[in-house]
Amino acid sequence: MSKKFCIVCGKEDVELIDNMCPSCYIKTKKLVEFPPVILGRLCKICNAEWIDGKWIRLAETEYDAVRDLILRYLAKEIKLDKNVKDYRIDVIKKWKERNGRSFTEIVIEGKVGSKAFRLKKKVELRLNYSICDDCLKRKSGYYEAIIQLRGKKEFSEEKRALFESFFTNETVHSISDVKISREGIDYYFINKTAAKRLISTVTSIVSAEIVESYENETIKNGKREAKLVISVRI
Ligand SMILES: [Zn+2]
Ligand SMILES: [Zn+2]
Repeated sequence: MSKKFCIVCGKEDVELIDNMCPSCYIKTKKLVEFPPVILGRLCKICNAEWIDGKWIRLAETEYDAVRDLILRYLAKEIKLDKNVKDYRIDVIKKWKERNGRSFTEIVIEGKVGSKAFRLKKKVELRLNYSICDDCLKRKSGYYEAIIQLRGKKEFSEEKRALFESFFTNETVHSISDVKISREGIDYYFINKTAAKRLISTVTSIVSAEIVESYENETIKNGKREAKLVISVRI
């Protein structure tokens, strides 16, 4: 009976993958094929990413947004040798070169058989920075709802602080304008749902008087549209 050996280095009685020991397999084969360029689109104001035809906000900082984008792109576009397993991809850094082009350095760690490998690769980053729909609405003063915060007897900074302590990320990103008057504060929301969600959280904890009404009713494309006004007294 013939002994099993690596066809590259001749080592005998070793683990073989396609007739090679793991070390020779790693040296000989092209384990990873990176895409030549990473493409993506981000909002330059809020870092939302354009994913499958929609703007989605996942990251707070630009660095995280770009990193998420790179990893998502690679998950779709990277090609791995069929014997690569237990792999992990990460972004080491990104930078801009003097010619204005951006690059990123990617590392992939994984295993072939029982042997670990680590590869690094510089890939061009071609990102398109634009303004997402929400930021566009906010910039143009668009709003769907107003929350009018007032005091039951009188308004105070403490009441404002209490109310704003219920703000979530969603709330903050939905507010397009804030108007302060002597009686209280008006918060303008680009998104009716965010305003309603805030109110239901507040009323589940704080005793508040809520009155909902509609104003500025118009007909747009055959549909009735009106601004929701929610008066809140706390
Ligand atoms: Zn070998
Ligand atoms: Zn945005």
